[in-house]
Amino acid sequence: MAGERPALKRAYKLRAYPTCPQEGRAVRLLADHCDLYNAALQERREAWRLRNLNVSYGDQSAQLKEIRAADPGGQGRHSFTAQQQTLRRLNMVFAAYYKRVRDAEKSRQQVGEKRQKLKERRVGYPRFKPHHRFNQVLFVAGNGAKWEPAGGGRWAHASFQAVGRVKVRQHRPVMGRVKTLQLKREHRRWYVIVVTETEPMPLPTTGRAIGIDLGVARFLTTSDGEIVANPRFLDAAQTTIAALQRRKQRARPGSGNRRRLRRALAREWRKVRNRRRDFHHKTARALVDACDAVALEALRMNGMTASARGTVEQPGTNVAAKSGLNRSILDAGWAEFMIILTAKAESAGRRVMRVEPSYTSVTCHPCGARCGRPRQDTIVCPTHGELDADLNGARNIAARAGLGSGQAPAA
Ligand SMILES: [Zn+2]
Repeated sequence: MAGERPALKRAYKLRAYPTCPQEGRAVRLLADHCDLYNAALQERREAWRLRNLNVSYGDQSAQLKEIRAADPGGQGRHSFTAQQQTLRRLNMVFAAYYKRVRDAEKSRQQVGEKRQKLKERRVGYPRFKPHHRFNQVLFVAGNGAKWEPAGGGRWAHASFQAVGRVKVRQHRPVMGRVKTLQLKREHRRWYVIVVTETEPMPLPTTGRAIGIDLGVARFLTTSDGEIVANPRFLDAAQTTIAALQRRKQRARPGSGNRRRLRRALAREWRKVRNRRRDFHHKTARALVDACDAVALEALRMNGMTASARGTVEQPGTNVAAKSGLNRSILDAGWAEFMIILTAKAESAGRRVMRVEPSYTSVTCHPCGARCGRPRQDTIVCPTHGELDADLNGARNIAARAGLGSGQAPAA
């Protein structure tokens, strides 16, 4: 096929439940890889210090065979390719370091000699990692690691050399060819990150091209009048989180009570994130299935607080703390939603366009006049009267992306 599309990469982060002995071996795996990482770093350091030599990834990878042979009970037990990945990771750390050095040199020439010392100090040579900070190992699928998807009521499993076959909760289907499997520790939890590749599968065209306005009162409004409400669970979660936060503030610093509350808070936030992500996936799926092109506002640097447009300035009956919370829950969500939507659109051969966000909601779509906004949900044009602010915004977004008014074409 001419002009073949590149394969799409997808990462699935799934919770893993190792048994006690498996967890012990996983901790050992991380420690051994950490030792390998540190030894390779040591070699690079010394080579530079003593002989002014740069050691490459290739040089280090070539020594692996010997290292493994010399340590059959330790390094020798692990997957060769996974060890190569750890050496690669160090190589990337060094590549970033060399880039910082080059950038510092460039700016030294610009800034002058005087501030050179300061710059040099900031460049930071790669450091040794303590065992507790080395939290992941990457395996190449089919090479010391294997993925067995869930199915027929069975759990999914990920097998890792020197660890075993670990139970994995697969909360959504894993699509595509599995390329790598990563075992990762986060505090006391374990995760498997499955990275897959899929060929894009273009969907048949639908003739629908829309702008969407992401909002606070509603999750989104399309330029042809579809409304997706905010999911109900957000409200309940806000109430719970606000209450926990108040209790935590009252608890004595350093007390067991405060620690318990902090854990409870972290758990609530995790729950919100998971359910929100799920909601985003479903909403994005529906849009991608139904539309050839979707336009939305490019996110601003400081999230999409959009206070200039007044979209967040409606505390309503909520207390101030709760509306702040509302904002932080939604803000984090918009960026994530756009990433998910873009990924789904790419794999379906759909277009996602980002437009410049200024004044989209207060410019009258029919005539372009700047409107007043007496209420959160309403703008008033001198000529056209009251308009739904979000719908009007969505139409302006569609127009900016070159999709006309983003309404269904006359049949
Ligand atoms: Zn008007």
